Amino acid sequence: MEKIKTLRGFRDISGEELDKFKHIEAVARKYLNLLNFTEIELPILEKTELFVRSIGDTTDIVEKEMFTFTDIGGDSLTMRPEATAGMVRAYLQSGLYATERVSKLFTMGPMFRHEKPQKGRFREFHQIDVEAFGIDDPLIDAELLWMIHMLLDELRVNNFEIEVNSVGCPECRESFRRVLVDYFETKKEMLCEDCMRRLDRNPLRIFDCKNNQCIEVSKESPLLFEYLCEGCRRHFDEFQHHVDSFGFSVTINKRLVRGLDYYTRTVFEVTSNDLGAQKAFMAGGRYDNLVEEMGGPKTPGTGFAIGVERLALITLKESAITTPTFFFAYLGERAKQYLIPLIKAFAEANLSFSYSYDRRSLKSQMRYADSLEADFVFILGDDEIDKGIVVLRNMKTKIQYELLLDPSILPREAIKLSVE
Ligand SMILES: [Zn+2]
Ligand SMILES: [Zn+2]
Repeated sequence: MEKIKTLRGFRDISGEELDKFKHIEAVARKYLNLLNFTEIELPILEKTELFVRSIGDTTDIVEKEMFTFTDIGGDSLTMRPEATAGMVRAYLQSGLYATERVSKLFTMGPMFRHEKPQKGRFREFHQIDVEAFGIDDPLIDAELLWMIHMLLDELRVNNFEIEVNSVGCPECRESFRRVLVDYFETKKEMLCEDCMRRLDRNPLRIFDCKNNQCIEVSKESPLLFEYLCEGCRRHFDEFQHHVDSFGFSVTINKRLVRGLDYYTRTVFEVTSNDLGAQKAFMAGGRYDNLVEEMGGPKTPGTGFAIGVERLALITLKESAITTPTFFFAYLGERAKQYLIPLIKAFAEANLSFSYSYDRRSLKSQMRYADSLEADFVFILGDDEIDKGIVVLRNMKTKIQYELLLDPSILPREAIKLSVE
């Protein structure tokens, strides 16, 4: 019979890569807790309308990349393509805006986008999503970037750059829109079909286009950064001042725009040249009007997402755990009686302990212990039991010790020998 396989762009994750995922999550959790962020779990499936309204109906994500289907009840549902929309929904639904002046939240989990699979990019991918609601002060934006620095430092990722820009507010964007439309009107014949449509509806989206001609035309265009209103300019200056105070540096990339409509003011991407052409592995920014647009009170927001798959590509393998691992090789029924007491004693001592489930020869059990890379092997047969001892073999030095056959003291005795 033909075997069933995963969907294209979906995969099973295990081994070293999963170890890295867990390590990244643990380090992120550490710093997020340090800075008073609270973890929240969100549903993967939401109403399609949530994403159309928040991300914007002219964005690539909503137009081309969502896993959307109609369920048995006839509702249009979507597998979340990103986490901010769900975070805002949860923030509003739980009424946090009424009970907390500031809400700092984070979530971890899979997201889904129907993109062409490529290196480090999958249709199911994992993000750590961080959001702060209720803070207008650009101090929080600088604080988030500082946290990213600490996180990458601990993960020993050195080759990265933080690119920042301001995408302004509706006020400065409206005046810039006219400048932009005037410019692109003169280059109309070079734009692709999508961008012709964008020119009427959302000319800023032209900057996201992956069409080579459109990229060329965009390169010469006027920049929103030069048309920021007074308030947005001041906000960005203060942001830079805070970045200086934290003592790290950012690169201003005036062409940086994010592929979602809800961003305002400061946006950023963390990139690494180690990742090749698609070099961003974290991204985020401010969304000061999104909460209001989703039916809540006017509440500023800012946040970012970590692309876990991509960060894992540039994270070094965690150095091996230094506590030794043990294996129990037993011969005969009498010896097997000691298995469960030993399992329990080693678990209580937080020591890794493995064994064979079926009856095998000593030779085969030793081979198995070798394949598991056990540091020490206990050997127990009738002879040892008669003498009241158990043999402990150091697999590296091949030295063997005889220890008193008492499961309750064996973990302690074994650790003592392992540090010698
Ligand atoms: Zn503005
Ligand atoms: Zn285009």
